[in-house]
Amino acid sequence: MNGLMMDRPLLISSLLTHAETQHGEQEIVSRRVEGDLHRTTYRALGQRARQLANALVALGVAHGDRVATLAWNGHRHMELYYAVSGSGAVLHTLNPRLHPDQVRWIVDHAEDRVLCFDLSFLPLVEAIAPHVATVKAFVAMTDRAHMPASSAIPNLLCYEDLLDAQSPRFEWPDFDERTASSLCYTSGTTGNPKGVLYSHRSTVLHSYAAALPDALNCASADTILPVVPMFHVNAWGLPYIACMVGAKLVFPGPSLDGKSLHDLFEAEGVTVSAGVPTVWQGLLTHVESHGLKFSTMRRTIVGGSACPPAMMRAFQERHGVQVLHAWGMTEMSPLGTAGALKPAHHALDAEQRLAIQSKQGRAVYGVEMKIVDADGTALPHDGRSAGELMVRGPWILSRYFKGEGDGPLVNGWFPTGDVSAIDADGFMQITDRSKDVIKSGGEWIGSIDLENIAMAHPAVAMAACIAARHPKWDERPLLVVVRKPGQALARDELLRFYDGKIAKWWTPDDVVFVDSIPLGATGKVQKNLLRDAWRDHLLD
Ligand code: ADP
Repeated sequence: MNGLMMDRPLLISSLLTHAETQHGEQEIVSRRVEGDLHRTTYRALGQRARQLANALVALGVAHGDRVATLAWNGHRHMELYYAVSGSGAVLHTLNPRLHPDQVRWIVDHAEDRVLCFDLSFLPLVEAIAPHVATVKAFVAMTDRAHMPASSAIPNLLCYEDLLDAQSPRFEWPDFDERTASSLCYTSGTTGNPKGVLYSHRSTVLHSYAAALPDALNCASADTILPVVPMFHVNAWGLPYIACMVGAKLVFPGPSLDGKSLHDLFEAEGVTVSAGVPTVWQGLLTHVESHGLKFSTMRRTIVGGSACPPAMMRAFQERHGVQVLHAWGMTEMSPLGTAGALKPAHHALDAEQRLAIQSKQGRAVYGVEMKIVDADGTALPHDGRSAGELMVRGPWILSRYFKGEGDGPLVNGWFPTGDVSAIDADGFMQITDRSKDVIKSGGEWIGSIDLENIAMAHPAVAMAACIAARHPKWDERPLLVVVRKPGQALARDELLRFYDGKIAKWWTPDDVVFVDSIPLGATGKVQKNLLRDAWRDHLLD
């Protein structure tokens, strides 16, 4: 017997309609490429998204067509999020930090029909425009006054002109909630990037789960500043979550340095922010070197790579900003786990709490997790047994866009490529990505642990640990370190810092000091490049 409840589809347009009708006066503030600080409301967002939806129809965008963006976090990008998906087309967020050849490859693969871009990316779009045959219209996301005087792109369209020509009357269509809504490619450090195609249903369910108190904990009382880019996994779902809960949104545009972010936090009363550890490092350095404080920030969500405990300590103990460690993947929309403590943990002392918060967190409702050994046998959740993490749930990918073969699932589970342990409380801890694992004499050494210890040294700005070839042990850990400015930290002093913190045989064999560590398009350390450079260091 079926239940007798309404079967209303879970559509992205319903998030916007809710925000517009229930939180119409709530603000959306954007620092724009044009240099100004733009203010609007959810009511105006709804109106402009409908004008844009009409404009897309006028451009010939049909149900299921891909509309690409190359844009920072800002109100126009938000309008595209809702207008494109809401009208039944697919929003394809391109990562502008990729190499132009890769961007071109992705546009071709996705068969994008329209490409909308912030003016910062004009040179990139001019470089790829002659080579992307599927794109029928290029739209500069600006007003008439800021349009480039000349451009190599024929018939370049002006975003504000397109909107001005349209009525704000548009009925968001109803369709199956399983319809594709948006497309995001993985960074593809090995091989070609792969497309992850989200649906309306997966996006709305992800937003429900991610907004919950033990997950990202977002409410109408919050002012949220997503540092995580809207071109990377939908800014961790925050543009959808903000509409769902009616939070004030602050978009930082292109300026992600410590000073720009801190100024915006203070000026707009930001309470919650989210981003990768490398961004927070820049912010902390700025705040601490200028003796500043956070007057409204309560929480920051850190994910994308492991958050060093030293960073957590700095935020929580010195600045009163709680750190929520979260883990996910493009293939998971992205949220899988979040590190909110359980009630019993509050009785623990600060060090013990920090140790739990440093893990990647526990599964949010909707995500099932298991760890398996090399034969696929499930391992116990004892906090010690480590194996490949497998996940399943309604916002986790089943196949890649245009993927070949049987797809990535193993008996219905998605293999994450992360090596982790899960403790009895359900807290998952990543020791490594499987491709970054260091195997010394047949035993695994967790590079994240070794990096976290180095990062806790006061003279270290950044550290990465890689597997270097070794004549006796096959591989041994090698630490690559950037010192803080003016610090004269030596190899032996740093290696002595490991004493008593880990098993002796885990201590890195050597340290190489460098001026900078290469970061990829999503702000993560490119360990493959470090391995290329230093793999044979211990053989020399
Ligand atoms: P890509 O795989 O394209 O680099 P993703 O953003 O999808 O981009 O990366 C997902 C991976 O990032 C995870 O599989 C994991 O290895 C890593 N990751 C994400 N969050 C964390 C975290 N909190 N701690 C450690 N690693 C993380």
